[in-house]
Amino acid sequence: MNIHEYQAKELLRQYKVATPNGRVAQDAEEARQITKEYGGQSVVKAQIHAGGRGKGGGVKFATDPDKAAELFKAMMGMQLVTKQTGPEGRKVRTVFISDPVDIARELYLAFLVDRATSRVTVMASTEGGVEIEEVAEKTPEKIVKVVVDPALGLSGFQARQIAFGLGFSGDGFKKCVVFLQNLYRLFVEKDCSMVEVNPLVETKTGDVIALDAKIGFDDNGLFRHPDVLAYRDLNEEAEEEIEASKFNLNFIKLDGNIGCMVNGAGLAMGTMDIIKYHGGSPANFLDVGGGATEDAVKNAFRIILQDTSVKAVLVNIFGGIMRCDVVAKGIVNAAKEIGISVPVVVRLEGTNVEEGKKILAESGYNLIVGENIKDAAEKVVASIK
Ligand code: GDP
Ligand code: MN
Repeated sequence: MNIHEYQAKELLRQYKVATPNGRVAQDAEEARQITKEYGGQSVVKAQIHAGGRGKGGGVKFATDPDKAAELFKAMMGMQLVTKQTGPEGRKVRTVFISDPVDIARELYLAFLVDRATSRVTVMASTEGGVEIEEVAEKTPEKIVKVVVDPALGLSGFQARQIAFGLGFSGDGFKKCVVFLQNLYRLFVEKDCSMVEVNPLVETKTGDVIALDAKIGFDDNGLFRHPDVLAYRDLNEEAEEEIEASKFNLNFIKLDGNIGCMVNGAGLAMGTMDIIKYHGGSPANFLDVGGGATEDAVKNAFRIILQDTSVKAVLVNIFGGIMRCDVVAKGIVNAAKEIGISVPVVVRLEGTNVEEGKKILAESGYNLIVGENIKDAAEKVVASIK
């Protein structure tokens, strides 16, 4: 789960990680008031779960309180397009007013979980404010990488190594070390999967602060953080993903036109690969899990069919714990409820496969049988052309 910048900054403050003053404004008048409080100037920031807002027009400097009110009006409700939103953009529903800071240096800092080492890894670079992917590609030597031992935590030595790599000295150096250690505590205690501070800023007055913050959480740890869960913003999640999460289904929206219902993430990956291999493009990735019930299958199928970008469906199930007859009944029940308006190709294999195929054949619906994964992929791609 991801949260907004203003929420991330609330958490930073709880952990004594320095960040500028800032508040959400409910209306233009409040934007004006807050700007007055900050001495007459502010930075007006659109809150969406996507980066690159600055370049897209979602971060603007207000030179006086009236200007802040004007920027608020222009930003609230706008469809903000950035490099990360896709061409349709995201609607701005929250606007944050930030106390401006005088920047001496813009740096980059991120904490993430590295899958290869299974450890929290800190990435830092003096090249802040720009896209880190670009830095990694063109000047990888400018990225400092530190791997944290979970038993020891981020040691003083490592924090100093990062602060040194970021070019700090004197007082700023000490502030950076404290910043890193507090941020690490937040990362671990809140079960984060990613914290990105871009830019981390050294101000002209020598402070070290998070000018922007993006935090992602491990969904499996959310049950023990009701405070974090309260930050969830359903407007920022795909409708189908919310619907799927109600039934414990894993749904990921993609931009193609073939809906995929599979069991197990590995098979899902394989299914997407083979669709691509045969010239098609998946519209989503719906994993019903290992032991889904008939009802879960029905809901999964319904969610896929409700997606208007879906022009055909491929069901690819390997019945291990999951029984093929249960899958078949779920599909037929969904078809009865909402009808089937697109071609559906089903490939079943494993436990009770014969019963499953019989249920599909006798259902009266035009369900195309895939003999194997290759045949199924070919048929579903052909069904669209
Ligand atoms: P993003 O574009 O979505 O990553 O939004 P950021 O919050 O990172 O803001 C983009 C850029 O706006 C930053 O890299 C800064 O250069 C600039 N910016 C944001 N807040 C301030 C501020 O308080 N003072 C100054 N001088 N620049 C700011
Ligand atoms: Mn940023």
